[in-house]
Amino acid sequence: MIEAPAGEMKGEKPRGLSDLLPRHLGERWQSRRDNLSKFFGEIGLKQGEFSQALYILPVKPTELGKYLKELAIKVANEGEWSVLLSRDDPPTVLAFPVSPKCRLRRSANQFQKSVLALYTAVHSRLITWWLINAWRSEQLASATWSLGDSFKIIPAAACARSLLETAASFWLETVKLRETWHGIKLDCWRNGPDHRHYYELTKLIYTMLWSAKFDKKVPELAQTYGKIERTNVLTLIDKLAQATSGAVHEDYQWLCNAVHPSIGGMLAFAAPMMGHDTKTHAFQWVCSEPLHFEHIRSGDRGRGGENRALWTDDAATEERQTTIEEAVARSAAFAVDVLERTLDDALRIIDDIGLTTHAPGMASFRYWRQISQKGQNSMCPCRSGRKVKHCLHRWLDEPPEVTRDFSVEEQSP
Ligand SMILES: [Zn+2]
Repeated sequence: MIEAPAGEMKGEKPRGLSDLLPRHLGERWQSRRDNLSKFFGEIGLKQGEFSQALYILPVKPTELGKYLKELAIKVANEGEWSVLLSRDDPPTVLAFPVSPKCRLRRSANQFQKSVLALYTAVHSRLITWWLINAWRSEQLASATWSLGDSFKIIPAAACARSLLETAASFWLETVKLRETWHGIKLDCWRNGPDHRHYYELTKLIYTMLWSAKFDKKVPELAQTYGKIERTNVLTLIDKLAQATSGAVHEDYQWLCNAVHPSIGGMLAFAAPMMGHDTKTHAFQWVCSEPLHFEHIRSGDRGRGGENRALWTDDAATEERQTTIEEAVARSAAFAVDVLERTLDDALRIIDDIGLTTHAPGMASFRYWRQISQKGQNSMCPCRSGRKVKHCLHRWLDEPPEVTRDFSVEEQSP
């Protein structure tokens, strides 16, 4: 509680969120505004981009021979198909169209090529996973900044919270993807491609795209959509907090207390209490949008109020509470840093999967980032900066790394 100055008060409206924040945080808020959009521009992700993904639906026919014969008749005029049978009894059939360029029927190593063709589903679905996270992040970042700068602090807090949750979730999924792909590469190098790898990756992708949380109060929704339970978001936030020196928990909990009707909602509209010097009572200013209050001494009247600095050491200056505004700015800037790095890392891993398996060239359909290597002296499309002849994407090569440390620069007091 601070002492209330006696005399008249006057208000002045700041221009954007950075005007309310301590200088180092205001600069950080400003500098991260367009980072994600710039990154998407650099990698060639256009506005209005679209993609599609292949879902192979396993079939367990009661009469295998009859089923395969009928299938062959049905797709006789549909170009090249890959048909794979599992080793269990009765076998599961995985059948799907592939590009005519695959030439599976004329290939000596048909089985291996057919197994690798399964990666057309894996690669195209990983692209879907990457795109929806990229679009989600961009929507949330753009909303957080525009709501924050127009002082719609409650929805800005809701967007910043979701942005931080998205960063935590996407980063942990990327770590898991890298770990899984690393194990598969090693196994392929030693033992060759196998169905099992496809199932392992498919299971992971299902979890990344289809996990949900519906409780017993909505049994029908829980039955239909709740089969794969999503990880508790607090667990994700806790793991991200361990990867940084930043105040992730503090900021996240302030955002939660602003998004839920509670103390944060009040603080978002309030100035600190001003107590009377008798200590018998206090007043609290609230305002729909932030105002800068100043005590006007009689001698100050008429002296350049409009241009007066908003942050001053003047003891007679009253400021709004900025607890929630600071949590919004700090967590949004941090989340954008995590997302920019992780979207980059994740795309490098997906590109490595595509270039190692040659899946994009085997697909019978078009999708975003269907990359392939061209001539030996051309640049590899994986953004390594190396020529194709030096960027081999072999099974024995380690997959690209994922950033594990997001420590933030020390903040000035
Ligand atoms: Zn490469």
